Amino acid sequence: MHIHSHYSDGELSIYQIVGIAAGANLDFIIITDHHTLNGMYKGQEGYRHGVLTLVGMEINYKNNHYLALDVKEVVPSDDNCPQNVIDQVNQQQGIGIIAHPVEKGSKFYENGLTYEWIDWTVDGFQGIEIWNYLSQWRDGINNIWRGIYLLINPQAGMVGPYPEIISKWDEYLLNGKRVLAFGGSDAHGTKIKYGPFKITMGSYRTGFQFINMHILSAQPLTGEVIDDKNTVYHALRQGNCWVANDYLMNSKGFRFEIQKNEQVWSSGSQLNYENNLGLHIVTPHTAVVKVFKDGRLWRENRGTNHKFPDVGPGIYRAQAYLPRYRRLHPWIFSNPIWINNNRHR
Ligand SMILES: [Zn+2]
Ligand SMILES: [Zn+2]
Repeated sequence: MHIHSHYSDGELSIYQIVGIAAGANLDFIIITDHHTLNGMYKGQEGYRHGVLTLVGMEINYKNNHYLALDVKEVVPSDDNCPQNVIDQVNQQQGIGIIAHPVEKGSKFYENGLTYEWIDWTVDGFQGIEIWNYLSQWRDGINNIWRGIYLLINPQAGMVGPYPEIISKWDEYLLNGKRVLAFGGSDAHGTKIKYGPFKITMGSYRTGFQFINMHILSAQPLTGEVIDDKNTVYHALRQGNCWVANDYLMNSKGFRFEIQKNEQVWSSGSQLNYENNLGLHIVTPHTAVVKVFKDGRLWRENRGTNHKFPDVGPGIYRAQAYLPRYRRLHPWIFSNPIWINNNRHR
């Protein structure tokens, strides 16, 4: 998700990007060029090399960048009033996501220029991009040696979603808002000249190996474009999806569910509290899992099969960390499950 093509400031055509996505074993990509839906208008949504291409867009210029998915008409920018932009995406029943809300900047990129989200009085958006690969990778370059090191070992720059973003997300959740977490690569493939060197900043190939969205759906993708477009957008809209850094270990197989007997509620679900609800988390590799309830750390466990019985009312979400090279690497960020307190019914 969150990819730029040559319809805006990306280096490659959508066809070229799809080829790279196929090489990275992605099932779907979502192109989000700045201020345009040309990829869609020129008929480039669909399957190629087994990869489903969908086209959304990114709105606004200087700050308050906003991603719009599943829209049919270009949403005009309004940097100064992002609520206006959010409302217009909602009018089209699109999925609107606050993009890279917190950025640190790097003096090696446009003298530390950032494109942050400024206006937190907004409401009615569907999600926040809690983790953006290119933005975080660039933020880590504070000197030339660090820059060279991060080109060779980009994983070293992946410190995880910024705590400021997570607390904003939790704040909205605690205020009763249904806000989902998304992650994107923001791949541009931009080539920068440093003297005799040409350096690719945020190559598509690298970007696709890092921060990805994973979806769960009742039916597998069929190969039919219309059906599969609905399936992907439905899962994203429902929150039946998670954000992961797949570079060290693919997060495929992750599960975050509330269970009772044979009944299962997956992430994005809202249910009424009843007795004997259990939280079940599966990580496809040994991981340290931290479960948050109402924005606070609630339980922690190490392993692959994480079971927490007798779950009470609250908003639950999980963060999984992968132990590698004597460190815990931020790995998977689930979407929430809401267990409503129905005592007063
Ligand atoms: Zn942006
Ligand atoms: Zn972007």
